[in-house]
Formats: sequence, C-alpha cells, structure tokens
Amino acid sequence: GSPLPNDLEIARAATLRPIAQIAEEVGIPEDALELYGRYKAKIDVGRLPDADRHGQVVLVTAISPTPAGEGKSTLTVGLADSLARAGKRTMIAIREPSLGPILGMKGGATGGGKSQVLPMEDINLHFTGDFHAITAANNALCALIDNHIFQGNALGIDPRRVTFKRVMDMNDRSLRQIVIGLGGAAQGVPREAGFDITVASEVMAVFCLASSVTDLKERLGRITFGYTYDRRPLTVAELGAGGVMAMLLKDAIKPNLVQTIAGTPALVHGGPFANIAHGCNSALATTTARRLADIVVTEAGFGADLGAEKFLDIKSRAADVAPSAVVVVATVRALKMHGGVAVDALKTPDVGALERGFANLARHVENVRKFGLEPVVAVNAFVSDAPEELDAVVRLCREAGVRVAVADVWGRGGGGDGGDDLAREVLAALEHPGTAHPLYPLELSVEEKILTVVREVYRGAAVEFSEAATKTLKQVHDNGWDGFPVCMAKTQYSFSDDPSLLGAPEGFIVHVRELWPRTGAGFIVAVTGSLMTMPGLPKVPAAMRMDLDEDGQVVGLF
Ligand code: ADP
Repeated sequence: GSPLPNDLEIARAATLRPIAQIAEEVGIPEDALELYGRYKAKIDVGRLPDADRHGQVVLVTAISPTPAGEGKSTLTVGLADSLARAGKRTMIAIREPSLGPILGMKGGATGGGKSQVLPMEDINLHFTGDFHAITAANNALCALIDNHIFQGNALGIDPRRVTFKRVMDMNDRSLRQIVIGLGGAAQGVPREAGFDITVASEVMAVFCLASSVTDLKERLGRITFGYTYDRRPLTVAELGAGGVMAMLLKDAIKPNLVQTIAGTPALVHGGPFANIAHGCNSALATTTARRLADIVVTEAGFGADLGAEKFLDIKSRAADVAPSAVVVVATVRALKMHGGVAVDALKTPDVGALERGFANLARHVENVRKFGLEPVVAVNAFVSDAPEELDAVVRLCREAGVRVAVADVWGRGGGGDGGDDLAREVLAALEHPGTAHPLYPLELSVEEKILTVVREVYRGAAVEFSEAATKTLKQVHDNGWDGFPVCMAKTQYSFSDDPSLLGAPEGFIVHVRELWPRTGAGFIVAVTGSLMTMPGLPKVPAAMRMDLDEDGQVVGLF
C-alpha cells in the first residue's frame, strides 16, 4: 500500500478553527486575547476573570527512553483529546520546540500522527517569537557585562570568572568556546567566552519557573553571572540589568494558545533543557490552564527519573502545579531494549525480552509512588507491535497492581477512539487523586539531596564528587545557597550515569563532575557524565531535507 503519511502531511490535512473561537469556548474574554494571525494567540493573564476553577494536573512522563523518543508529546496531546471527547473541560500545557534539535536530528516536536498541536509549521519554527525574546534578554545581559568591564569595571568583575554565556537557538558547535574583545583597546576587554543553545539559558529556566511578572523580575535579579577577583558572586541586580531583561520579555511571558488536530485548546509556552534545567513548559502556562479547565495535561522531559522528579522537586515547589495523577508512557520497543534486544532487532516480536525489560517500567512506577502519586501506564502502540507483546505489557502491569491502558492516539487519534481506554483509566485515577509531595526537604545539604535522589530514584549505591564539584560544594555552602533543590543533569537512557546500563541496574556509583549554581532559577545543577549546553549537528542534519515550495509551504519538517 501507500506509505503512511508523515506528521507534516497529517497536520496539513487538518482543518483549523479560528483561535478566537477556541478561546471563547474555554472562557478567555476577547480583551485578554492577543492574536498572532488567525490560529495563534497570546493570553494576557492579567485580564482573565477570577475563576474558581482549579483544574487537576495530569503529568505525562515515561520509562527510560530509546533515542527515538517514546511518544510523550504525542500521548500528552492524544490523552487531552480523549479526555475532551469524554466530555471533560481539558487543556494542554507543553513546551515550545527549539530550532536546534529540529534542524539537527529530531525534526518537529509538536506530537505526532493524529495527536499534534497546530499549526505545526509555525510552532516548530519561530512561533510567536518567545525564544528570540529570551535570546535577546540573555544577550542584553552579556553585552552589559562586557561593557561594564570595558567602561572601568567598577564592580570588579573577574573576566576569567564570568559564568553567564551568550546564547542562540541553533546547534552550532563552533561557538562553544570563543575569545571575544579582540582587535585592540577600543574593541573591548579580551576574554574567553562561549555560546550555549537558548534552551540552556538560565533566563529560559527563570522564565519557566516564574509564577508572575514580579517573580520573573526577582528571579532575573538573583541570577549569578560571575564572580569578582576575590570570588564574591555577582548578581544581575547588582549590575542593574534585571529591568531591561524583563522588559524584553514583556510579550514572551504571555502564554501562547493554539489547538490540537481535534480542536482541544493547548498552551505551548517556554522550553528549558531537561538536563541542566527542569524541562517543562512555563509555570504560568500550567497555572493559567488550571484557571480555565478542569483537567490540565502537561509533560516533563526525559524519563520519570529526571522529568517527573524535577517536576515534583523543583517546579511544584515554585508554582501551584502539583499533579493529581501521573501517566508513565511505555513502548514495546523500549521495554525490549531494556530486556537486551539490539536497536536493529526491535521490530521482531520477543515477549521474553519484554518481560525482562519490564523491570525498568516497574521501577519508574515504584518511584512515582514515592512522591505520593498513583501512576497510570500508557502503552503507546506502534504498528510494528505484535498483539502478544501488547497483551504481555498489560498482563505484567496488572500483576504489578498498576493501572494500564494501550493507546493508539498516534494512529487513531484521541479525537477518534485511540485514547478512550487511557482516558477512562486516568479519570478513575483522578477520582482518588494522590497527595503529591517532594522527595526530600530543602533543609538537607546539597550533598544529601543529591544522595537522596541517587539512592531513592536511581537506586545507586553512592555518589562520587570530583575535586571541582567538592570545591563548589563548599562555595555553595559559603554563599548560603544550601537551601536550593538540586537539578540532576544525567543521561536519560539509564537510571545510572552510564547510558549503556539499561534495564533496572543497582549498586552503581553516580559521578558528579561539576555543580552549577543557578541562583535565579533557584536550583543547583549537578552535572554527571559529559554534557552539551551547545549541541552540534549530525553528519546529515534534518535541515538538509527541509525546503520552501513554490506556494510558500514548508517541506520536510517532520
Ligand atoms: P517524546 O515526546 O517522548 O520525545 P514524541 O511524542 O515527540 O516523543 O514522538 C517522537 C516521534 O515518534 C514523533 O515523530 C512521533 O510522530 C513518533 N511516534 C510517536 N508515537 C508513535 C506511534 N505510536 N507510532 C509511530 N510513531 C510514533
């Protein structure tokens, strides 16, 4: 038969309704809506009526993924469509995609198949310009720092200890480490510098954790951008740069409203890295959705050991977003990979491998319970799954006493019947919502917090701090930063810090290489393994298949 249509083709075949109509249905008054064309709008949250609604949050997370991704975004969108189909007033809150990975490996990041947010060409490209605004706010600070040094350096900024970097929303490895200010006395003070990708900017993390404009300004002011010659930390507030940064974010901070293929309203807003940051959409988008809908389906990056842990230990402490239910997405292919099957053999049915790999899912399920929540497993069905494999996952989940449903929201759509079973399980879980709580109290030392996550969530035996990390631990303590939660930067592929250790490993040692205090965002990043804050492009980037046709239509964006 003919090949299956790709995500872009499916998206283009969908009929969009004017976004003003979608807004009206969900109770957004006209004067709170700022249109960006016919199908996108920003919401001026200050103009929303005081609602007594306080929607329940459903957090979508996953087992330890394969490099292809297990379909969290697809399931998030599809589940919301299914809940809407079941008559529930539902909204979605998800991240905005970053151009770097889109042009690199990943292609679009707006869901897949019949479960997508639209217009996907816009959301995946410049959308409403939020990432450009965040880039500008970030780089305004950099320009002000270097100008301050050039103009006499009253603050005594040590040019060798400026930790805050310039950013751009592109994978460009050649900018990782550069020397700036060359060319003589009039061109600035030479120093080593570098670029990160925009989603790695602390401004992005601040933007996504801010609970209001006031909180945004305070957090920007608390960013530590570097140190003086005598190692005293310097903040954005001391430099006086917080005001202009907030000003540059004045429109970006308003959540973006779009719709799914099935017409469910979705807020797509913000998008911090899931490794050196917490990896979920803006807190403002989630809290706004709670004011408008009875159920808010949202997503956290990577597997539950990272995304869900940070959602509950970082984001839920910063904003009123604690989930009532958690959906753990699993796929037959990932379970088989955890059971020892090689990537190129994943399409061959193998119930034995799947049963072995189930240990990975079982541990994520146990972990979710440690946060006071009862998970629902969503099996994201692929055309290549054998019926006996899908049956086996369901049986294993039932034996483990966890709710489970097979979902085909990619093929049949949540607007169709592809997610009805999952919606039923999630609604049943929401009838008895858990009481979400963080894993650890903030009073523990940073070292103890890291150890708690490693022992309780990863099931490692111990943590080994490098010499550099040990030094920073002391600085963190001396600077009074002990009270921050930790943000673990670890491989998503394994519970350990070794991406090749699949399944449910135990007894391993986690190596903390560096600690990066992020005093604006309000967490201490613990860097394990090697980590890219400016990714590179692969040999044949996805960008090479992209084009614009004669009619001005996007080609190859999927
Ligand atoms: P994640 O959010 O976990 O990274 P995505 O939802 O972005 O994953 O999905 C990754 C890719 O896999 C997308 O291109 C999507 O279209 C595809 N995909 C997701 N679910 C399925 C499925 N059930 N069958 C086929 N392809 C799928």
